[in-house]
Amino acid sequence: MRRRSFLKKSSAVAGASAAAVSFPHVVTAKPKFKVKMATTWLKNAPGFGTGANYLAKKIEELSGRRIRVKVYGDKEIVPALQVFDAVQRGTVDMGHGVSYYWQGKIASAPFFAAIPFGFTASEMNAWLEFGGGHDLWKEVYDPFGVIPFSAGNTGVQMGGWFNKPIETVKDFKGLKIRMPGLGGKVLSQLNAAVVTLPGSEIFQALKGGTIDATEWVGPYNDLASGFYKAAKFYYWPGWHEPGANLEFLVNKKFYNSLPKDLQQVVQVAAKAANNRMISEYLSRNAPALNTLVTKHKVQLKKFPDPVLKKLKNVSKEVVADAAKKDKLSQKVYQSMMKFEKDILSWQKVSEIAYGKSRI
Ligand code: CA
Repeated sequence: MRRRSFLKKSSAVAGASAAAVSFPHVVTAKPKFKVKMATTWLKNAPGFGTGANYLAKKIEELSGRRIRVKVYGDKEIVPALQVFDAVQRGTVDMGHGVSYYWQGKIASAPFFAAIPFGFTASEMNAWLEFGGGHDLWKEVYDPFGVIPFSAGNTGVQMGGWFNKPIETVKDFKGLKIRMPGLGGKVLSQLNAAVVTLPGSEIFQALKGGTIDATEWVGPYNDLASGFYKAAKFYYWPGWHEPGANLEFLVNKKFYNSLPKDLQQVVQVAAKAANNRMISEYLSRNAPALNTLVTKHKVQLKKFPDPVLKKLKNVSKEVVADAAKKDKLSQKVYQSMMKFEKDILSWQKVSEIAYGKSRI
């Protein structure tokens, strides 16, 4: 008994001292870099807001807290649509958002978020990593002194919330709808009145009748935003955003001031955040959709096939037109189209075929 008790005590002491001395730098080191991350999201918004928090936390942990990151929501430092400018000017060293918000400033920006009838999340990641996409993205942002990284993806989104059913393409005529990016341009071609509003302003606009319809993300976010209280038809699929690639922006001067190991930390943390968000959306969307339909009696509807066909045809034209704006857009577009062509023969007998076989 005495021996056992002694062993127990000594191992407890050893354990306590090991805990105290294992990683002393984690506890005592002062941060060498204190940075702000401005985001285009409401603070702690499900998915992308919590994704930005996760990214900041990962950077702190992986750097042994040599980098400290404080995350700010929409309007806390700058409004959502000015996050890129804030990173460019160095008002903040980091940003988290989505590139189609900058399409008025950078013509090719939307290609790095999502294009209508374009890449899914896994295809976008493959293009960025193995198809030259990330190099092109860096080239596009380089004149602004900003370095982009992927840091999340919503997966396929929903087609949006509507106050009236969409039965033919004529129903888009005069429809006041919130839809950013190239999807919005497609609906403009069908004579919809398209607006771009950040997430924080959509609910009031829909509820108050300033808009008749909106796309946002998918069930996980849309349930939290309460759109079911303002519109009753919930359409699928999200043809306009088949996988929105979210971006992590880093001021280039700041990035270059980091030692090499911390530059790696920034890169690896972004990859971790990217992976995690894809899984988060997949696991959270399904129960949220169930709640919307069963509890809130939302009417789930598929866009009729002829409507989708028209949207697809117009999308091809709009995307090709958008690529004509400047040389860099053309280069990005051609790279995407080539990659799509290269992978589609495989996708048709793998992901796409398998997906069809399951329903
Ligand atoms: Ca969206």
